[in-house]
Amino acid sequence: MEDDMTTIPCPFVYANGKHCQGHVRMARAYGPSRGSHYVAQEEVRKYRLWCSEKEDHAGAVRTNEGKLRMEFYPRELAPGVENELWQSDLLG
Ligand SMILES: [Zn+2]
Repeated sequence: MEDDMTTIPCPFVYANGKHCQGHVRMARAYGPSRGSHYVAQEEVRKYRLWCSEKEDHAGAVRTNEGKLRMEFYPRELAPGVENELWQSDLLG
């Protein structure tokens, strides 16, 4: 069970306005590397998220547009989500 872990709802919204019922199961931060594995939180340019239900939501047809569905600029994430990502062990 993962009851005591922070659960971040998947930010994906379907074309019909329905929110995905999954949660973020993995995340990756992209930004300038400082020679270490991780980028600094304040320098993150983009996050890529993976959903517990639908992985990257790219669908069966692999298109670039599909690939971008789960990529978010920090300002696109709901308030607090970015900090939650960093406090969780989802970033890797
Ligand atoms: Zn999802």
